Amino acid sequence: MADEFPAGSVWLVGAGPGDPDLLTRKAERLLRTGTIVFYDALVGEGVLALIPASVRRVPVGKRAGRHSKEQGTINDLLVAAALAGERVVRLKGGDPSIFGRSMEECSALVQAGVQVRICPGITAASAAAASAGVSLSLRGLARRVQFATAHKRGDAPLDLDWAALADPHCTTVFYMGRSAAAEISRNLTAAGLSGATPVLLACDVSLASERLLQTRLDLLHIAVSAFSSDQPTLILVGEALAVGGRMQMVGSGLSSLRDGLPQSTSPVRKLDAPSTVFASRPL
Ligand code: SAH
Repeated sequence: MADEFPAGSVWLVGAGPGDPDLLTRKAERLLRTGTIVFYDALVGEGVLALIPASVRRVPVGKRAGRHSKEQGTINDLLVAAALAGERVVRLKGGDPSIFGRSMEECSALVQAGVQVRICPGITAASAAAASAGVSLSLRGLARRVQFATAHKRGDAPLDLDWAALADPHCTTVFYMGRSAAAEISRNLTAAGLSGATPVLLACDVSLASERLLQTRLDLLHIAVSAFSSDQPTLILVGEALAVGGRMQMVGSGLSSLRDGLPQSTSPVRKLDAPSTVFASRPL
C-alpha cells in the first residue's frame, strides 16, 4: 500500500461512532499501515485496539469540559510528524467532515506542503438511526435532514437559525447538544415546532453502553438529565423518529413528569407495553 500511504503523508480517518465493526475496511487498513496515530477522545477503545502495538498512539482528545490540546497544537503535531517522514493517521470520531474541524488540519498540512487525504466514517447520526431502527429521511414526513452543532461557548446563547431548524418536515440532528437541551427545546417550540414532536436521545451509540430514549420536544430538558454529561449524546428531532423503531417508547416515569408541564397537550406516544424508558443494545 505504498502508493496509498507514502511516508510523510497524512490520512484523516473517520473512526465511526465507536464499534470497531462500523469502521470501513480502508480505515482499518490505514490504521495498520500508519506509523503514528493521533486520536480524539471519542474514538472507541475497540477501534484503538486495532492499531498494531508497534504504531505510536498520541491522544489529542477533545471532550466537552475536559482539558484537550488546542487545535493549533494538533495542527503543528500533524505537520511535524509528517515532515519527519511518518505515515500519519489522524483518527477522528464519526466522520471527519461532520463537526470534525478537518479543514483546519487539512489547510495547515497543505500549507506545509504535506499530502493529506480523507477516509470517511459513519457519523453518529447514521449510527443512532440504525440502532433505533428509524430513518432520518422519510417519504412524506422528513424530506430534509439537517445536522447542527449545539456546542455552547460558556453561557452565550446558541447562535442558530431556529426558524430553519424548526421545519416540521425535517429531521434535525444536534451534535454536542447535551448541555443545550433546554435551549433547543425552548427555541424550537418558540419558532413554531410542536411540543409533541418526537425526539430521540442517543448516547454512546454503537457501544455496549449505548442508551436510546424516545421522548418529545417539550420533555427534552427533563429527559436529557438521564444522561451523564460525560457521555457523547445526540439529540434527534422530527416526526420520522416515531416511525418504526425497535425501542420501547417513553414509559410512565416520564409521562408523569410531563403532566406538570403546561405546554404538553398530546399524550406521549406509547407502545403496547411501555415498561421501560431505556433500551440498551441488544434488544
Ligand atoms: N465527527 C463526529 C462528530 C464530532 S462532534 C461524527 O461524525 O459523529 C462530537 C459529538 O458527536 C458528540 O458531542 C455527540 O453529540 C456526537 N457523537 C459522537 N459519537 C457519538 C456516539 N457514539 N454516541 C452519541 N453521540 C455521539
